[in-house]
Amino acid sequence: MQQPDPVEILKLNRIVVYSVIGLFLVLITIYALFIYGKTGQYQDFEDYIFGTYIRIKIASKVNPEKIAKAIFTEMRRLEEKYDPYREGSVLYNLNHSEDWVQVDDETLALVDLSLKLAKQTEGAFDPALGRLIDLWGFSKYSQRSESEFKVPEPREIKEAILLSGYQKITVDYLKKSVKTNGAWLDFGGMLKGYALKRAYQIAKEYDKNCHGFIEAGGQIMILGPKFGRANWIVGIRNPRGNTYDSISYVYLKEGSIATSGDYERYFEIDGVRYHHILDPQTGLPSRGAISVSVVSEDPILADALSTAGFVLGKDRWLYTRTLFPKLGAEVLLITPEMKILKTDNFSIYENPDR
Ligand code: AMP
Ligand code: MG
Repeated sequence: MQQPDPVEILKLNRIVVYSVIGLFLVLITIYALFIYGKTGQYQDFEDYIFGTYIRIKIASKVNPEKIAKAIFTEMRRLEEKYDPYREGSVLYNLNHSEDWVQVDDETLALVDLSLKLAKQTEGAFDPALGRLIDLWGFSKYSQRSESEFKVPEPREIKEAILLSGYQKITVDYLKKSVKTNGAWLDFGGMLKGYALKRAYQIAKEYDKNCHGFIEAGGQIMILGPKFGRANWIVGIRNPRGNTYDSISYVYLKEGSIATSGDYERYFEIDGVRYHHILDPQTGLPSRGAISVSVVSEDPILADALSTAGFVLGKDRWLYTRTLFPKLGAEVLLITPEMKILKTDNFSIYENPDR
């Protein structure tokens, strides 16, 4: 028998070793792609809730579709529960009762928080403006067509003011009951923020490492940094430009930014713009700002304070500038003259290298 050539054996061994290494590299690449596919690739979901588009951009090793579905279901639950025009809803019952109404824990906490925010902002944010909002037709729940809008009579506004205001709302914490005393509660100025807080909690319960963001109307809640490490870049819309025209950008890895603008819901008569953010003192659309953006860790605070900052406007800017950062919120306000006012630390968020 012929002896095997030692050179041939060496060649064969080398081929085997290279094949094994090659196979190993291919397997590693497939595994890396698989992991990247699970955590690094964003999926987008969209639904229409609270009279606005809700967009979710999420990457997660848990089924992102499942997370998005759970979030939309929760948001729809809140939309129905606090729809003041839906017979039988929690707010409908509260607004249409002359007596104490027992409420569940979630509602008690929301009413309590809304009253606290009203006191902190000296009533600029007021959750009991339901009658005024209804008079103007600006509720997120009662969408009117352009031709249906009209400027209410001064007498009607006066009457609605008399039956509005957070001071009217009384709470019995022991009996877990609320009495509206003729006023109508409307959570339009903070409910999206609350829904975003719940959305964040739900996403993190499914997967604490998920990342991405959720957009609801003029507000964004960050779920986690882009690709797990980078800032998300959020444009602040030029209130007199189109949707994609930004006057500034903020860079966020966490937290929320909310913008209240006079371009979101309005009608025009004889060249005058009547929009949906009302000054509780006058009962008229607030004129001291045209856009207010608030960055905060807490989406409820960002939402409520963007509405409040709008009402406080340029005339009470010193108050906003002093108080809001203490509450955990930085503000950018655009005056009707297009002048930009910022709290001292707002520019931190405008730095791409933060
Ligand atoms: P936002 O877009 O978050 O500023 O909220 C505006 C919505 O909040 C309006 O559509 C009303 O439902 C409600 N709203 C209007 N004015 C006020 C106010 N001064 N305080 C609280 N909520 C308000
Ligand atoms: Mg708001």
